[in-house]
Amino acid sequence: MSHRLVVVGAGYAGLLAAKRLARKLRRNDVTVTLVNASDRFVERVRLHQLAAGQRWTELPLRQQLSGTPVQLVVGHVTAIDTTGRTVCTDVAPRTIGYDTLVYAVGSQARLDDVPGAVEHAYSVAGPEQATRLRHRVAEMASGGTIAVVGGGLTGLETASELAESYPDLRVRLFTGADDVGAGLAPRARTHLRRALDRLGVSVHPQTVVAAVREDGLDTRDGTSFAADAVVWSTGFRAPELARAAGIATDESGRVLVDATLRSVSHPEVYAVGDAAAGLSVGGASSRMSCQAALPMGRGVADVIAARLADREPGPVRIGYAFTNISLGRRDGVVQFTHADDRPRRIVLTGRAAAAFKEAVVRSTVRSGPRGEPGSDERNS
Ligand SMILES: Cc1cc2nc3c(=O)[nH]c(=O)nc-3n(C[C@H](O)[C@H](O)[C@H](O)COP(=O)(O)OP(=O)(O)OC[C@H]3O[C@@H](n4cnc5c(N)ncnc54)[C@H](O)[C@@H]3O)c2cc1C
Repeated sequence: MSHRLVVVGAGYAGLLAAKRLARKLRRNDVTVTLVNASDRFVERVRLHQLAAGQRWTELPLRQQLSGTPVQLVVGHVTAIDTTGRTVCTDVAPRTIGYDTLVYAVGSQARLDDVPGAVEHAYSVAGPEQATRLRHRVAEMASGGTIAVVGGGLTGLETASELAESYPDLRVRLFTGADDVGAGLAPRARTHLRRALDRLGVSVHPQTVVAAVREDGLDTRDGTSFAADAVVWSTGFRAPELARAAGIATDESGRVLVDATLRSVSHPEVYAVGDAAAGLSVGGASSRMSCQAALPMGRGVADVIAARLADREPGPVRIGYAFTNISLGRRDGVVQFTHADDRPRRIVLTGRAAAAFKEAVVRSTVRSGPRGEPGSDERNS
């Protein structure tokens, strides 16, 4: 009987893993099935651009998979049964059996952090949410206010992009931290502050948002701010699927894995990308980023191929080279880092940083999901 490999999630990590597995295991006794909620590959790192009304293209998964033996199932996985070794889906076939499962479902906005966010807040965590925000912002009258909550990378990029695309709207950025750009070198932080000033983004440091209302937000110290849209951007967490299946996870719902990306509780399950708490160079837990997702996607395929050939694989290396922040289309900050994510002294700012980031985003798709041979590029 064939060995059934099932990959859940066709983002940066899962699509790369499925294509590489299919290429490495072109044998009659292995099947690779990829289950994804939509029939498109979503360039998630551009979702703030989608929200800001920019042109948006999605890559059809069937095109990405053409020429490979990967079987694509378009549907949601609703549950994982680790005893029966099946995943349940909301489309036919309702259950798909696996011998090895690769969990690659990405992450979601932390909307349940405060009351009112689920009902009233917007986010850029997925294409549907970013499209909802796009429509909301497009219909706002001049002088309207957008409140972005969260001073991390996604909050900064979203606030900047919206401010640049809609100079007639007021953009406020709320962060519980003392300042924006924690972890960046002083020169990078200074540039960041200047860029936000130039774009007209008003930063509210040391301001913890306690609730979201239909017409604004309330802070922990009891102040209320009016806003026509509140964008929740306080970080991400993994979906509940793995935890609900009894697979060991951390507090963010990310699957706890060993150095070969294998679940510490279920050896037939592997996890990659945002949905995995991998071990980075230096020992910290992996950062939710493409820089971690791509080596994980590539690495998990190599690990599984080795084990199926009765070889014991080495650890998967998850290292970093930079932190990349776009500040609209013509400005940015690139903080170069050591492999363990500590900042170096080298920083790029301005147009050079914007061009660098654009090149990285393009190469992420080229070297990641498109990088494995087998896809039909003629129609792209
Ligand atoms: C606005 C924004 C900007 C970002 N900018 C950067 C950046 O500049 N640099 C960087 O490194 N990172 C950036 N990130 C983070 C980066 O996008 C993620 O780290 C990356 O997408 C993780 O890849 P992944 O494959 O784990 O998950 P994803 O790319 O999220 O893919 C997960 C896939 O799983 C599917 N899925 C989820 N649940 C199910 C289910 N139950 N059943 C079936 N399919 C399912 C989804 O539909 C999706 O296709 C950004 C994120 C956002 C939101």
